[in-house]
Amino acid sequence: MKNIRNFSIIAHIDHGKSTLADRLLELTGTIEKRKMKEQVLDSMDLERERGITIKMQPVTMKYTASDGTPYILNLIDTPGHIDFSYEVSRSLEAVEGVILLVDASQGIQAQTLTVLEMARELGLVIIPVINKIDLPTARPEEVREEIREVIGSVTDDILLVSGKTGAGADELLAAVVRRIPPPAVSAPVGRRALVFDFEYSSHKGVVVYVRLLDGLFRRGDHLIFAGSKEKFTVLDLGIFAPARRSTETLEAGEIGFLVTGLKNAAEARVGDTIIDPAEPLPVVPGFRPVSPVVWASIYPESQDDFTLLKQALERLRLSDSAISFEEESQGALGRGFRTGFLGMLHLEIVTERLKREFNLSLIIATPTISYHLVDGRTGKEDIIYTPHLFPEDLKNKQVIEQWVEAKIIAPAAYLSPIMQLFYDHEAEIIDTENFGDQRTTLVVMMPLRELMRNFFDEIKSATSGFASLSYRLADRRPADVVRLDILIAEEPVPAFTKIIARRRVDKEAEEAVNRLKELLPRQLFVVKIQARALGRIIASRSLPAMRKDVTGHLYGGDITRKMKLLSKQKKGKKKMKSQGKVNVPQEVFLKMIRNDKK
Ligand code: GDP
Ligand code: MG
Repeated sequence: MKNIRNFSIIAHIDHGKSTLADRLLELTGTIEKRKMKEQVLDSMDLERERGITIKMQPVTMKYTASDGTPYILNLIDTPGHIDFSYEVSRSLEAVEGVILLVDASQGIQAQTLTVLEMARELGLVIIPVINKIDLPTARPEEVREEIREVIGSVTDDILLVSGKTGAGADELLAAVVRRIPPPAVSAPVGRRALVFDFEYSSHKGVVVYVRLLDGLFRRGDHLIFAGSKEKFTVLDLGIFAPARRSTETLEAGEIGFLVTGLKNAAEARVGDTIIDPAEPLPVVPGFRPVSPVVWASIYPESQDDFTLLKQALERLRLSDSAISFEEESQGALGRGFRTGFLGMLHLEIVTERLKREFNLSLIIATPTISYHLVDGRTGKEDIIYTPHLFPEDLKNKQVIEQWVEAKIIAPAAYLSPIMQLFYDHEAEIIDTENFGDQRTTLVVMMPLRELMRNFFDEIKSATSGFASLSYRLADRRPADVVRLDILIAEEPVPAFTKIIARRRVDKEAEEAVNRLKELLPRQLFVVKIQARALGRIIASRSLPAMRKDVTGHLYGGDITRKMKLLSKQKKGKKKMKSQGKVNVPQEVFLKMIRNDKK
């Protein structure tokens, strides 16, 4: 055990975590050079397409120190985007130390501070590392100063590397072995493991990712999940190389996987402790549960797919424990799920995975944050997660909403456009601090609703991409919001209902009808698109009819036949219109959700 080192690489997005991991894998001979590709640990198609890490990825490496001592190094690469911070926090529970990477040209960014805070809370050893020193724009000396300011570490402790060229990678591994402590000594009896992640394999069932805490594990062991009480026999076990590779045993201090053969994906929970029921050791504290930030109702396009959707969500939740969902049903849409996400990117990735990995066609309602409705007379509190369940008339009810504390780091030169955005998004500055080189840290309080209204993208574009942002949930405060309904051919479409700030009603109503007019395919009849709030229609557009040329095949003068056909077409349109059926294609729902106006 004293020759094991467990650590994560953490950083702001794009500071080079996965690329540096590539170099460490090469250096330790874990992956042969000819099999190497860029960011090899980003194995999911979506990760490769988007160039971001979505899931944490453990990998075991063998390393021989300069004095000849052999070590086992378990590294966990983590995502940098704030929507996936639950992956980071769980990975940190499985390790004794972290490499905190900072990009040599960008310096400390908002998410650097957030992940640093997480590592500190757990009392992990932090190795600060400046990456990308090969860049012509690298300014390692200034970044060193910044790191010193926030960590308070001595300058000599800060390493310089390039994940691209491999410079400094050797010294980094030596520092990992020297500075990060080995895992704590295991209990003399029993077996115990912390579950930090899952995977579902259609042949093997539930595969658990574990940090082994005590004892020796073998194939055939009879174990139990202490929380869910589910029993299983270890069918196979091993390490990540980075693909799963079977081993004879796994022992305390190591990171690896256990194949359980369990088929029921719904029972499994990250943070659970696996113990030996014959010699039960105490359960470890587990993880702080996540609180979803946005909610969206998801319905299968065809009700026949309901069970499939349920299964898909359960399986996805195994590999993405930040999703939560609950069954709901509503008139026109039938049965579906109210689903909670950690942000808009998270929502986008999950819905994309549902489509790709499970081949599902879905209707996704406009996402919303949750609102608490407090009855003025009884004091009774209801939580609304679905916009179309929000009352049209608030009568004696008070609406309470979530606020967040957001931290923005930006070059001081961009302060004036940033102030304008703060004003537009109801953000109040509570603290500012000048930061090393001409940059300012701004701490604001704002409604979560406004943060979700594309705040970060707007900040990014107002600062030519130089600003970074992170946030955390703060208190709840009274909200002045109303419900906005969208009607197509006089029928409300529940999936388009939104809850918005009262002061933005007119603007949002106009935007919604204009955008729908652009997106909705023309029908055989004229379609009215309307927005309704506060009991009246506040915006309206007409989508012209598609004119199918029913007389095209007639030429020459037979005017009476032409008239006859045209009047028949008119009747047909009238009939269709009276049925009021306008089919809204799936892409339209998705495009209406994206508020980036693309
Ligand atoms: P992550 O989000 O922290 O995992 O970052 P990635 O490893 O995906 O890298 C983000 C981008 O930075 C990619 O385009 C990499 O090619 C680039 N990059 C990573 N490390 C270096 C480096 O040391 N030097 C240079 N010049 N580019 C790097
Ligand atoms: Mg990455």
